[in-house]
Amino acid sequence: MNLKTVSSPRLLAYLIAVGMGAFLFTGCDDFAGLKIPEPGSACSVASDQEGTLFAPLANLPVKLYIDPTFSPSRKKDIRRAASQWNRLFQYSLHKALFEVAAEREIPGVKNYYSGMEFCGENVDEGVYVVAEHSVEHWTRMGYSISTAGVTNRCSGRGMFATALTHPHIVVYLNSAELSDDLFFGVALHEFGHVLGLDHSCTNKGGGYAALPCASIPENNPYRRAIMKGENDYRAITNSNENRTYLLGTPMVHLEQNDIDRSYCLYQKAGLGAK
Ligand SMILES: [Zn+2]
Repeated sequence: MNLKTVSSPRLLAYLIAVGMGAFLFTGCDDFAGLKIPEPGSACSVASDQEGTLFAPLANLPVKLYIDPTFSPSRKKDIRRAASQWNRLFQYSLHKALFEVAAEREIPGVKNYYSGMEFCGENVDEGVYVVAEHSVEHWTRMGYSISTAGVTNRCSGRGMFATALTHPHIVVYLNSAELSDDLFFGVALHEFGHVLGLDHSCTNKGGGYAALPCASIPENNPYRRAIMKGENDYRAITNSNENRTYLLGTPMVHLEQNDIDRSYCLYQKAGLGAK
């Protein structure tokens, strides 16, 4: 290689792009101003987040089954949330994450006494998004009235297995208590759990490997992430209407920490573009 080639602006630009391993997304999009990893670029997760990555999904795209009992606008929100993750995966890994399949209801789900019962269901592999329309049933399944959504990844191979080859995953969305402005962000967050992300930080503290959010500065990317612990929600009871509502901050798009961790999870497992 001669020096002239090395110093040509085009090659220099290429080297800079490779060095950064990301491109800054511009334009009118959910990802405006965020850095999207270049397919095949190297990645590393900060050491204090290494334990927040669970097993990735071995085969993409994974089928997504939406409960037909969601309202049309909520079905649309679920599809939009899936589509936002899909676009990130297409840009950074050259693969879609989800393939939205036919709507499906799990026959026994309204009678569950535990959210784990789904793991015993004999259904096609994939991800099932279930509508919870009853606060009474939600609490009977063992969930708090301030919990907005729950994802169960049924796996006998442990949370940190190499990759899930036969995904059997359920997402319960607390549709009874969620207002329209919160619903989309909760779906986006739960889909992060589906693909294998634990919380970037957690308000509960303890738990798995995530840091307590209160222990890190407010402007830290871990606290801005869509995957931060979801316990910012508060349940308010309206005794006149005999029902509860969730209050919280609506979330509309993935943040840098969500993008970086999801890319790393798949790239490091050899499931991304080469
Ligand atoms: Zn969560």
